[in-house]
Amino acid sequence: MSTQQTTAFHLRFGNKERIPHLKKLMRTVLEPNGFNMIVLEIDKNFIFKSHPEVHEGDHSLTKEDAQDLQAYARELGIEIVPLFQALGHQGWGGSRSALLRAYPEFDETPDVPLDAEWPEIFCRSWCPLHPEVNDVVADLINELIEAFTPRYFHIGMDEVYEIASDQCDRCRGKDRAELFAKAVNDMHAIITKDRDLEVMMWGDRLLDAEKFGYDNWEADTFGTHRAIHDLPKDIIVLDWHYDERDKGYPTPHYLMEHGFRVMPACWYKENVAEQLFGEAQRDAKEHNLEDHFFGKIVTSWHHWDEEAYDTFAGFVKGEEEVTELYRLYQTMKNVHEY
Ligand SMILES: [Zn+2]
Repeated sequence: MSTQQTTAFHLRFGNKERIPHLKKLMRTVLEPNGFNMIVLEIDKNFIFKSHPEVHEGDHSLTKEDAQDLQAYARELGIEIVPLFQALGHQGWGGSRSALLRAYPEFDETPDVPLDAEWPEIFCRSWCPLHPEVNDVVADLINELIEAFTPRYFHIGMDEVYEIASDQCDRCRGKDRAELFAKAVNDMHAIITKDRDLEVMMWGDRLLDAEKFGYDNWEADTFGTHRAIHDLPKDIIVLDWHYDERDKGYPTPHYLMEHGFRVMPACWYKENVAEQLFGEAQRDAKEHNLEDHFFGKIVTSWHHWDEEAYDTFAGFVKGEEEVTELYRLYQTMKNVHEY
């Protein structure tokens, strides 16, 4: 896979009843359009035998489901990369992820009510300094790796806002970049220990929003971006940008220059994909950084319920719609032209 450019697709996937739908998507859309990787956001939607108390729901995937999916994907020349949300995204709003429900003592913002909403809180984080969090998380990650036998593992790490919270006795007043770097390094150590596995993560917390003129979602406004100097350079960073920009996208170059391999990430907008991927590839070539251009990824952020899969199947048959979902399909069809 290292010599062939990667073309990846991202989706959230947490319901074993949808396995036949995902297989059909692989067979009818991904493989025919040259996709050779799926970043599959499983997160905690897995039956963890080492920690049954970390339970997201009864439809979660089993080890057998994971083995079946990976084997099916590889028959089609596609590699599944499991994504597990580390540090941030431990629930939505005030709600807690399965990990924080089982271990509320890991919560970085324990005083935030469970029914709190944006803008009071976006998502909870775990505390990177809790003395037991990494042991539990290592068990969960190890199980996902045993199940999927992947070549890459994605640790999330996007949109982490709750870090060095005043509500946490361990982290209060500490440097956010240092805490963020510690969390990434801890995950990297768990994943790569005695294993030939590579780590992927979203890149937004490593980018200075002010310097690049991005907003607080696609870049950092809280001070985590300095962590870029303290991370292992073998991480593959996914630099996501979903909207048009007159000034272009300077950050794939910035990340490549810092020694990382980069996979720019678009969403459903074809014009953004064309500009983002095109600029990054031309820039890598111009600056002799082609080894650092890892590939392209198209992300999807709608809910993949049965209706969405059916709608996608309709597109394959030639049906057209004026919707984001249809634009996503077109972007996937044309991804190799950008
Ligand atoms: Zn803390």
